[in-house]
Amino acid sequence: MSGRVARRRRSVCGVAAARAASGLPLTLLGSLVAALLALGLAGGSSDAIGARSTTEVVQGAAVWGWLQRRCVGARERLPAYPWPVAPFHEQHPVRGYFGDPRTVITGIGEGAFSFHNGVDISAATGTRVYPVVSGVVVQARGQRVVVASSHDRRFQYIHIFPRVRVGEPAVASDTVLGTVLPLVRHVHLSEIRGMCVVNPLMPGHLSPFHDTQKPVVRSITFESLAGRRILPDALSGEVRVIADAYDRPAIPSPYPWSSMPVSPVLIRWRLATLTGRTLQSRVAVDFRVSLPPRDDFCEVYAPGTVQNFAAVLGKLHWGQPGRYLYDLTPVPLDTRLLRDGRYHFTVTALNTRGRSGSRTVTIEVRQRQELPSLTPLPDHRCAPTVAA
Ligand SMILES: [Zn+2]
Repeated sequence: MSGRVARRRRSVCGVAAARAASGLPLTLLGSLVAALLALGLAGGSSDAIGARSTTEVVQGAAVWGWLQRRCVGARERLPAYPWPVAPFHEQHPVRGYFGDPRTVITGIGEGAFSFHNGVDISAATGTRVYPVVSGVVVQARGQRVVVASSHDRRFQYIHIFPRVRVGEPAVASDTVLGTVLPLVRHVHLSEIRGMCVVNPLMPGHLSPFHDTQKPVVRSITFESLAGRRILPDALSGEVRVIADAYDRPAIPSPYPWSSMPVSPVLIRWRLATLTGRTLQSRVAVDFRVSLPPRDDFCEVYAPGTVQNFAAVLGKLHWGQPGRYLYDLTPVPLDTRLLRDGRYHFTVTALNTRGRSGSRTVTIEVRQRQELPSLTPLPDHRCAPTVAA
């Protein structure tokens, strides 16, 4: 199976999400997206950074290895930095994690989809925001201030009213960069090294940060390549495996964000015999170092994925927790390479501090004559021609 060519998932990526929310009233998309961006709910283009040039092509499961190689410089150990809001050396609630899905679904297979490229630190309106590392202000407009620091590092502070100008020095924990805007109740912090956006919650970055919560793998489901659900005791041919998984923030944010899920930083799976011998294992999601390009959203998140407070077909689901469905098999699992019989399929999700949760299901492989497969529907969410 390892010699198989990675294939992009192009089947029914956006359809299930839209189908699940069908029947909702349709309103003006433009005003909704604008309102979401104003509230800091959508991940939109305003704070998204592509880690890949448009000339490079990475497919399927290869994306994680590519990220590791591309962002090797981002692993260089530098001093940890404090929080951008006071008290600087105490942990604050973080309501949005690195890699969280950002979804605005506007139609069947259509909308805006991206990975959350930083952390959302809860803070009241008017809270002063300070640099976490000293440097020079290189951007201060709209809701955003960017500070360039040593080691080819930049920090972005978004959803604030800027109080500095380009060219001014910014002293860590001293210079007021701006204040948190009304309604958004958080400041978005991104760390960028060279061409790579980095997870601020990894050890050695934003500090102090402790996380004793255990991620949860809520379910593991199986689908045919045409997107049909298959029971785990009747697997044959090539199948896709989807995990419904989430993590809880280390410290709850104030209402209404107090019970919203965040993404685990790592998800892996393992196929084993009933006696425990590993037959195959893969890392399906790895947000520890950096993020895949936005075009690879559907390699990571499966149909039906929606963000917290999701906007679906013109309706904002205020206060509704998101649903994070991870596609564990951008390269389908080929059960034809297994003998008929029963196996264990285990999914494990971890947070940045190594806390984990897992779930195991018993599957049964029973090969039978394959039915002609349906032509997969196009997935417009991942069109590679979309301009950055
Ligand atoms: Zn954010």
